[in-house]
Amino acid sequence: MKPILLTKYGETLEIESPSYLTDTEELPKCPDVYAGTHSVCGGIIFIKPVSETHFVVFCSICGRITEPIPDEVCTYGRLRQWCEERNKKNTEEEDRQVSRRFLSRFEIDRAGDGASA
Ligand SMILES: [Zn+2]
Repeated sequence: MKPILLTKYGETLEIESPSYLTDTEELPKCPDVYAGTHSVCGGIIFIKPVSETHFVVFCSICGRITEPIPDEVCTYGRLRQWCEERNKKNTEEEDRQVSRRFLSRFEIDRAGDGASA
């Protein structure tokens, strides 16, 4: 299985699984079951429910966790897709914030896209 890009910073979840495992494999949503390896630190990654409806992916060594992910994300493939979309959205939001900060610093707010309230 291809590694899953967890965050836009390049952190990946590596799955050193038997080669027959594919993206349709269900995520092991149990805090004691190995779900993969954290590329950055080599820690074991677990998937842990945080509520009735959401879970997080966290690393046993460095403690890095994802934001809560909805339970509908139930396979490795869907996790891959969800992370891709979220990383893209976060990057776009950050770009907008940087752009807003830049505009306000130079007091050219009104010259922008006219989106200000
Ligand atoms: Zn880690």
